[in-house]
Amino acid sequence: MQEDTLLKYIPGIGPKRAELFLKQLNVSSVADLLAYYPYKYIDRSKFYTVSECIDDTSYVQLRGKIRRFETRGIGAKERLIATFADATGSIELVWFKGLKYIKESLKTDIEYIVFGKPTRFGSTMNIVHPDIEPLTEANLAKNNGLQAFYNTSEAMKKSYLNSEAIRKVIITILSDTSLKICETLPEELIMRLGLISKNEAIRQIHWPTDNEQLKRAQFRLKFEELFYIQIFLQKSSQLRTTRYQGYRFERVGEYFHSFYEKHLPFPLTGAQKRVIKEIRNDMNTGRQMNRLLQGDVGSGKTMVALLTALIAIDNGYQVSIMAPTEILANQHYESISSQLSPLGINVQLLTGSVKGKRREQILLGLKEGIVNILIGTHALIEDTVVFKNLGYAVIDEQHRFGVAQRAKLWTKNVLPPHVLVMTATPIPRTLAMTVYGDLEVSIIDELPPGRKPVATYHFYDNARGEMNAFLHRQIAEGRQIYVVYPLVKESEKLDLHNAEQGFVQMIENFPECKVVMVHGQMRNADKDIAMNEFVTAKAAIMVATTVIEVGVNVPNASVMVIENAERFGLSQLHQLRGRVGRGAEQSFCILMSKYELARETRQRLQIMCNTNDGFVIAEEDMRLRGPGDMEGLKQSGLPFDLHIASLATDGFILSMARDEAKKIIALDSEFESNQYQIVGINLAKIKNNTTDWGAIS
Ligand code: ADP
Ligand code: MG
Repeated sequence: MQEDTLLKYIPGIGPKRAELFLKQLNVSSVADLLAYYPYKYIDRSKFYTVSECIDDTSYVQLRGKIRRFETRGIGAKERLIATFADATGSIELVWFKGLKYIKESLKTDIEYIVFGKPTRFGSTMNIVHPDIEPLTEANLAKNNGLQAFYNTSEAMKKSYLNSEAIRKVIITILSDTSLKICETLPEELIMRLGLISKNEAIRQIHWPTDNEQLKRAQFRLKFEELFYIQIFLQKSSQLRTTRYQGYRFERVGEYFHSFYEKHLPFPLTGAQKRVIKEIRNDMNTGRQMNRLLQGDVGSGKTMVALLTALIAIDNGYQVSIMAPTEILANQHYESISSQLSPLGINVQLLTGSVKGKRREQILLGLKEGIVNILIGTHALIEDTVVFKNLGYAVIDEQHRFGVAQRAKLWTKNVLPPHVLVMTATPIPRTLAMTVYGDLEVSIIDELPPGRKPVATYHFYDNARGEMNAFLHRQIAEGRQIYVVYPLVKESEKLDLHNAEQGFVQMIENFPECKVVMVHGQMRNADKDIAMNEFVTAKAAIMVATTVIEVGVNVPNASVMVIENAERFGLSQLHQLRGRVGRGAEQSFCILMSKYELARETRQRLQIMCNTNDGFVIAEEDMRLRGPGDMEGLKQSGLPFDLHIASLATDGFILSMARDEAKKIIALDSEFESNQYQIVGINLAKIKNNTTDWGAIS
């Protein structure tokens, strides 16, 4: 057997399961499967007692006897329950499938080893579909050590490809004496850093002898993964600086100065000033700017966009500002056009609902150069939108746009325009270093003065009465309230609150004020009417879905209620909360949830109550969910998926990998020497499996 042997030729796999591996995990060869690393390990040398199985215990191994069997439920709900006991108490083992076979193969008079994850069900603890084997010398010996666990999908489990089955296949492969696992790092690097070989690392990662060996294997494989990402990024940034010329904005002129001196509505924060300088410098280098502007919700990114847009206009260029939703595009249009009207700058709005004659006029004005700033949704990137001389493209809330969409903006002029991507989803530093290794990053790390942190509370559904009383008081004080729901309509599948029912309830419960509703399934015109009533304070309560997550700015709104908050991710909760706390009044965010919550969910809600700092929240989010799940990350284009390294916790290995990658690129950027040839070969292999995000902002 070789690394490139296809899985279907491995004993015990066959074509059908090989197909599943391919479809579900994108694994087709032995090498692919060996790169499918476990997500955790359980120490099976330890036995627990039944009395130690309490809520939230993770996997346990028990020894004891089955006292009795019982079947409960009928039809699809039929299940087999075995009462399993040791000297300290009893626990229920539950099977929903294969009842007959299991009942026949298990006996009540012999001792078993049971392995699984206990959960509480009413007043009893149970283990669903446990691993169970007779307690014999052979079985004890086999399980004595660290056992690897693999992620599998529902479809795989149906074909009995659970974690344990995958483990067995991998052990079969590793036991084959003809298998050779090739080295992927330069020998020189391995020696110098004292790493273990790839061969050793792969064996230990799947089938560890002990904790220490496992740690060394993890270190080596994490290093390798981060090293190649760094090599990749540093190669592509080399390309970028040589490849993309840009327009040179030489002066800061009349428009900028007169706005800055006469019309600025407030003094800029130090952070805003710093960032504007950074952008200004970039625009004057003769190379295309590609800059990511990170700033927490409410940090004043729009003013940065506005002032830097004036620099572009001062130099005779047009500007586009693209927002992810129509609501947000409208809002930018309103605020920017009114602020710029004293300067006589022509600002236009282009969204899907601008049609007919009006649209033609705008497009014509754009082509002739009469329009200075075009604000809109992704309607901006359509081919019919032709600029006379686009020099600067601002993209707001970038995680909503795909990489390909952004790239289209590049083609709107002879040279690509300068690009500023603004995001309110702060990306942890380690991640920014990796994902945007080739992109400049600016950070607004200061909020405008006078902002009070939003006070955040977590309530269970049964405290609804208290919450309503609180909302009545806020309304009496003239404040406005958002109530956000996870669903628009009632769903048969999901037992969640929904906006349509919430709307009716709020109208009933709050007769003293007007309630409006906004959700994604409404017609745009109706959305606008509702939005307007809220913005002009005719309505005090806005019932909504997450369509209001992004950007909406109503400073008088001081309460954000989030229903079924357990259903939202941390960064989404933070975005939603950012809709309040924009005025001078103390603002509140109330997270409503059901009572039974998984531990991780409870932690998530707790983090929201503890901090308002978007960066802390982003770090925690990454820690809880892993970077792969970070909102928008797939789109912003991590060059390759991480299989083992964690950007949340492997910062040290990352900077080491970065240094080493730099050194090698400096010595031998084409990987021509005998020593570093191996880097070029592996990089090509990895790149083969990925799209070239490196060339796009
Ligand atoms: P975001 O970064 O979330 O896009 P905005 O640009 O919408 O934030 O700004 C949020 C609010 O703060 C707006 O009402 C804006 O006018 C106001 N603002 C921005 N900068 C300042 C400042 N330096 N001082 C006072 N208010 C500011
Ligand atoms: Mg904004």
